[in-house]
Amino acid sequence: MASASHHAWFRTLALLAGILAAALLLGLAIGQPWPALTLASLAVVAWHYWKLLGVQQRLTARRRLEPKPGQGIWSALDHLLYRGQTEMRIRKRRLLAMLRAYRAAADVLPDAVVVVERNQQRILWFNAAATTLLGLRHPEHRNAPVATALSGLPMAPWLAAGRNAEPMNDVPSPADPNLRLQLRLLPYSEEFWLLIARDITQTMRVEQMRRDFVANVSHELRTPLTVVHGYLEMLDEGDNPQWAPMLEEMRRQSLRMTRLVEDLLTLSRLDARDSLQEEVVAMAPLLASLLREAEALSQGRHRITLEDTAQVDLRGANKELHSAFSNLVSNAVRYTPDGGSIHLRFVRNADGGANLEVQDTGPGIPAVHLPRLTERFYRVSNSRSRDSGGTGLGLAIVKHVLGLHSAQLNITSEVEKGSTFLCRFDANHVLARTPHSLSGISR
Ligand code: ADP
Repeated sequence: MASASHHAWFRTLALLAGILAAALLLGLAIGQPWPALTLASLAVVAWHYWKLLGVQQRLTARRRLEPKPGQGIWSALDHLLYRGQTEMRIRKRRLLAMLRAYRAAADVLPDAVVVVERNQQRILWFNAAATTLLGLRHPEHRNAPVATALSGLPMAPWLAAGRNAEPMNDVPSPADPNLRLQLRLLPYSEEFWLLIARDITQTMRVEQMRRDFVANVSHELRTPLTVVHGYLEMLDEGDNPQWAPMLEEMRRQSLRMTRLVEDLLTLSRLDARDSLQEEVVAMAPLLASLLREAEALSQGRHRITLEDTAQVDLRGANKELHSAFSNLVSNAVRYTPDGGSIHLRFVRNADGGANLEVQDTGPGIPAVHLPRLTERFYRVSNSRSRDSGGTGLGLAIVKHVLGLHSAQLNITSEVEKGSTFLCRFDANHVLARTPHSLSGISR
């Protein structure tokens, strides 16, 4: 096409030269060459202006004008413009179709999708599910600030976290309080964020059902167990000494069942809470009581020591922390063979918090089991763990209680050497020890 338009240009140039030459000849013939040349030039200029008008009309016309046939440069330009316009129109149509297809796809998504402009935190676009889940409506929420459009949700601190915003789990929907939502913020470019809301009502309901079921079963089992256990305790083999081992076993098993039910109830009580009431946990008496419990359980079979150099108290729930720590102590005593030693340690840690450690010289735990140890009913070796009288729920309770105190449980263990269970509390959960409880025990 480039050569064709060059061709047209040369043709137009040749035509111009021809016209001027003819005008000059005609002028010479009538003895007025300059006026003839001037007139011819003016006519050429006028003709070009006329053609320029044509171009302007094409570029500003609403309708698409058919190109006029012709050979010169103007006609070539006209054809080029016409072709460009046609291509542009096709591309535009294709893009529009694609955009419509994307929008249609976004509208059938069950999740609410909201595009948020990052700097001003305004809503640029949202899909149909955003109306049912978040209550966003066209056109009033277009370009509205996110914080006002979703004022029912704690948006401001969440948006401020930006890239680091954790998903918001289980928040009530502003459109319908019966819906529970999970919200996520995905920064997908420098300028835009994607806010995604998912309906997790059903999941939460199933989760609640599971919790209620476990809680109810445990609760219902409690009374019959108490009755059976009570009568078993009263029974006396009397005239039938051959019943003695059977009765003994029945008592043992009913005790184990009672403990299981109690642990399940404890777990479901912990499950139902997001936080515990915080109070001062005086550590000196608590450690002393843990030591007494360990000694009672061990009955002189282990060497038990306590080191308390932290000189702080914890902020948290007394009863729950006590039960978590005694779980660790009772595990250490139960799993450590006679003659082994158990060391309780309460010390400050590098983060300004405090660690409670229970160290034993027991059988240790192979590394493969460590990540799953805190799962409910997870046991390293079934026979030994069951014989030890445990429920398999102890460490699950410990982890839950620590979680409610923003604390972590670290387990380190070496087979044949022993294990250390470390509860790590952060600086927010330690307090200076009150004067009357100041009694650093070290034995
Ligand atoms: P259990 O009631 O069976 O003791 P836990 O949840 O307290 O349940 O512990 C889970 C498992 O972890 C135990 O079955 C045992 O195999 C292992 N375990 C826990 N504490 C120790 C320990 N101090 N030494 C060795 N193994 C341990």
